[in-house]
Amino acid sequence: GFKCGIVGLPNVGKSTLFNALTQAGIEAQNYPFCTIEPNVGIVPVPDPRLTKLAEIVNPQKLLPTTMEFVDIAGLVAGASKGEGLGNKFLANIRETDAIAHVVRCFDDDNVVHVAGKVSPLDDIEVINTELALADLESVEKAILKTAKEAKSGDKTAKLRLTLLEQVRDHLDGGQPVRAMQLDADQLGLMSGLHLLTIKPTMYIANVAEDGFENNPALDAVKTLAEQENAVVVIICASIEAEIADLADADKAEFLAELGLEEPGLNRVIRSGYSLLGLHTYFTAGVKEVRAWTVEIGATAPEGAGVIHTDFQKGFIRAEVIGYDDFVQFNGEQGAKDAGKWRLEGKDYVIKDGDVMHFRFNV
Ligand code: GDP
Repeated sequence: GFKCGIVGLPNVGKSTLFNALTQAGIEAQNYPFCTIEPNVGIVPVPDPRLTKLAEIVNPQKLLPTTMEFVDIAGLVAGASKGEGLGNKFLANIRETDAIAHVVRCFDDDNVVHVAGKVSPLDDIEVINTELALADLESVEKAILKTAKEAKSGDKTAKLRLTLLEQVRDHLDGGQPVRAMQLDADQLGLMSGLHLLTIKPTMYIANVAEDGFENNPALDAVKTLAEQENAVVVIICASIEAEIADLADADKAEFLAELGLEEPGLNRVIRSGYSLLGLHTYFTAGVKEVRAWTVEIGATAPEGAGVIHTDFQKGFIRAEVIGYDDFVQFNGEQGAKDAGKWRLEGKDYVIKDGDVMHFRFNV
């Protein structure tokens, strides 16, 4: 699956957030084929379009798609030197596909701050430095190895060496590799390294209940994120934990009291999903209406493969109706009558929201 790792200094609210996320989540026993560790949560991706489709199709079941969040506790200054079980945590981050960096933007005298004061930019720098140092080590090793290959005249090695040296200088300057905006070829040359600071990253600003506005700590994070071209999601983790704890009926009431349409967690999940480069297509039958995840750019056969590898192997064609057309024309028959039903071949690139039915050989 696609994993978003939750990182941050101790006491910033990571576990509070992770627990709220997994409370809304799915029992691990429903997923016999994946090994789920206690720090991994499978979380349904909230999507109002599912409800809309269900109103039209009246299915027996409604199944959201899911994504994984991983709680990566314990990253502290010195981790890259193996301090505080540092290497294990860095290894955990290496296995994720994107990073949600939780930053403390709330004051609370009862909650100890590891650095003694609430200072999100310093906190971010501590984490980013550890990740950059870990990457620097990987890059320096790779430079030694690649220099030997380049000496023997290998052209790709020469290209790679030049790039690695640029990356090293960039990391030396304290910048994450993702800020270099490498093109596909360059990314290809770097892919074996599994760098940490190359992963797409968002900031989650954890604020106090009344800290969504007039909060200098939050403003500082927003400014930094803007410079880095990163997304900031603002939440109050302790309220999210309270919401997640409530029964569904009470939830709606509590949200209304807060003037919210949905839990802030939904924004965290959707942002994580898009950070991972994922989007959704639907299958809509009377048995079930279901959302499926594909990578942006995935073709119809690849989408079919998400349901079953046989669907991909035996792929013939995909019947496709765009989500808006499906809704506007009140389902498959209406969309067909309006000329909005299409048959697509193996090169078709799935669009977000496509309602699909696959034809395949067995
Ligand atoms: P972690 O070490 O980053 O996983 O942090 P925790 O989630 O364990 O939170 C550390 C402490 O901060 C706990 O006592 C939480 O109850 C508290 N905490 C977390 N989020 C908030 C928040 O939004 N507001 C306040 N006031 N306290 C919070």
